[in-house]
Amino acid sequence: MIRSGFLRAAAIVAALLILTGCGKSDGAQDVQFDGGRAYEILKKQCSFGPRYPNTPGHDKMVEYLQAELKPLSDGVTVHSFTYNTGKKELEIKNICAVFNPDASEYVLLCAHWDTRPWADEEIDQAKRNLPVPGANDGASGVAVLLELARMFHIKRPSVGVIMVFFDGEDYGPSTRDMFIGSTRFAKEWRTALKPIIKRSDYKIKYGILLDMVGDSSLQLPRERKSMMMAGDIVDKVWAVARKAGYGNIFTDTGGYSIADDHVPLNMVGIKCIDIIDFDYAYWHTIEDTPDKCSAKSLQIVGEVVSKVVYEESVQAK
Ligand SMILES: [Zn+2]
Repeated sequence: MIRSGFLRAAAIVAALLILTGCGKSDGAQDVQFDGGRAYEILKKQCSFGPRYPNTPGHDKMVEYLQAELKPLSDGVTVHSFTYNTGKKELEIKNICAVFNPDASEYVLLCAHWDTRPWADEEIDQAKRNLPVPGANDGASGVAVLLELARMFHIKRPSVGVIMVFFDGEDYGPSTRDMFIGSTRFAKEWRTALKPIIKRSDYKIKYGILLDMVGDSSLQLPRERKSMMMAGDIVDKVWAVARKAGYGNIFTDTGGYSIADDHVPLNMVGIKCIDIIDFDYAYWHTIEDTPDKCSAKSLQIVGEVVSKVVYEESVQAK
């Protein structure tokens, strides 16, 4: 993602008891977001190496995401296409999963899973052609979503949930060749989801994009494009965060204005917000490694998003 304006002005603990269960829930079981487990998922992704199109790490992630999501969700499909940068053809794969595929209303949860091929924010010019490890920028959002998938498997939310793991967000180097997966998905999402959602009369209530949510010094001001395009959803999520005791993380200050995967979705009428901590010193550098991220940060974001989803009321199907 790319910052497009404004500096912003402007940390908490959750000790957890994990209640494990098996099978689909009748609602009687309790289930908690496990930040430690999410952090392990973050490290696992980084162990695959760089994860941009046409690399072995990219292939491994496609397999990994499907293998993880198939037993947890009610359906997985790969929205794939070829994208031509003019110099290269990229095999782009958005991985989509659904929970409650008979629902009439869905919350869309998304994150990009690819990593940037070049560390163009490195001060040392010699390092700028190296790929970024993408611990925060790539793996963090995915880690939270996969841990949420485990929760939703144990205890189904009332509302339908669509998860999309976007590819090609960070290819670049310029924005012309970024947001590749989300831009295409926005144009053809109903067709892309057809293999896993059979009905055609459903709607997506809103979307929540998670990007760079693992920084160990997490601060989440209100991203400005989200405020402009989906202010009511920002209000809803930030209110849940405040109630959960995280008002000092999900702050009421205005953040940066970020070009990210939420923009193409808003352009086609799907209200989508971006939960992002852009104040990350290791952004687009080879230092974006797991030690800069924490289980606690993933915990906070995962806990808030899970509350938002579980509290979502549903209309009659
Ligand atoms: Zn990035």
